[in-house]
Amino acid sequence: MIISMKLHSKPEEIEEVCQRISDFGYKIHTIEGEERVVIAAIGVGDVTPCLESLEAMPQVERAVRISAPYKFVSREFKKERTRIRVNNCEVGGDEFIVMAGPCSVESEKQIMEAAYSVAESGAKVLRGGAFKPRTSPYDFQGMEEDGLKLLRKAREATGLAIVTEVMSDRDVELVAEYSDILQIGARNMQNFALLKRLGTAGRPVMLKRGLSSTIKELLMSAEYIVAHGNKDVMLCERGIRTFETITRNTCDIVAVPVLQELTHLPVVLDPSHATGKRNLVPALSRAGVAIGADALIVEVHPCPEKAVSDGAQSLHLPTFRQMMHDLQPYLELWKQSRLAELAVAV
Ligand code: PEP
Ligand code: MN
Repeated sequence: MIISMKLHSKPEEIEEVCQRISDFGYKIHTIEGEERVVIAAIGVGDVTPCLESLEAMPQVERAVRISAPYKFVSREFKKERTRIRVNNCEVGGDEFIVMAGPCSVESEKQIMEAAYSVAESGAKVLRGGAFKPRTSPYDFQGMEEDGLKLLRKAREATGLAIVTEVMSDRDVELVAEYSDILQIGARNMQNFALLKRLGTAGRPVMLKRGLSSTIKELLMSAEYIVAHGNKDVMLCERGIRTFETITRNTCDIVAVPVLQELTHLPVVLDPSHATGKRNLVPALSRAGVAIGADALIVEVHPCPEKAVSDGAQSLHLPTFRQMMHDLQPYLELWKQSRLAELAVAV
């Protein structure tokens, strides 16, 4: 069950509700929002008597039964989509967002060139890793804080928001200082110490699906971040490992509408890691828009042949520009269907 308290409830009123829940034998998990406290009651058995008793309490706004184990992020809990404000744009709203940039931050020249170009092509968020997870630990692991400083410079110059990866709970504060969205890579989707720390990071999170993770596991990890205090989580489908070897990963494209049915969180598609091949990125990007994703995150590099990581899947700057142009008719249809959905919701 999820119990939403009335706005600005007093501590003693909350305590009274918690006591009632405990009397029924359920465990309690409380989330304190800016205006409202939400309580999750976890336990087994028929919840109807408890639900009825809570609904009769004047300080309770709403008490609902939720069957999904990922309670806070489920559509049962919240019908309307979560919109996440990032700088000057919104992910999950009525504008499709494109995030683009190199896999890794490599130099000032590289990141500035990429930033100016993707901004001109219509991207709203610049990506670039300063802390890099790699398949081999002996590969380049990123420029760390120097890379973050370059991202900040690119943001100041172009107005783009920044999404960049944080790999350890120890680095959350540092990375949050320089970025607008904290990216959690596929290899860290179940790093629970890191997820827990994100609860109080004060920045939106983009959680990437693990290489061998199910949709439910992805939602459980998102739930864990929300349960620790951060509601602004977006999910990212970036392909999973299968027996197929022609593409780097297998894009589970249907995960996009499946997730949108199960959760109110925005869904981002990463066509670069999902395919590993730049020639496949425009087609998969079109598919992502058509299937109703909220955003794309695309790897783009001024000179992919010289990239220190993921060059084969990185688009050249002019190809990205062309792709953004070719996406326009799809984006118009996307916008119409999103506005129609919002009109129904009103
Ligand atoms: C990346 O975005 O460059 C990256 C390492 O992604 P993933 O965690 O999905 O492999
Ligand atoms: Mn990459």
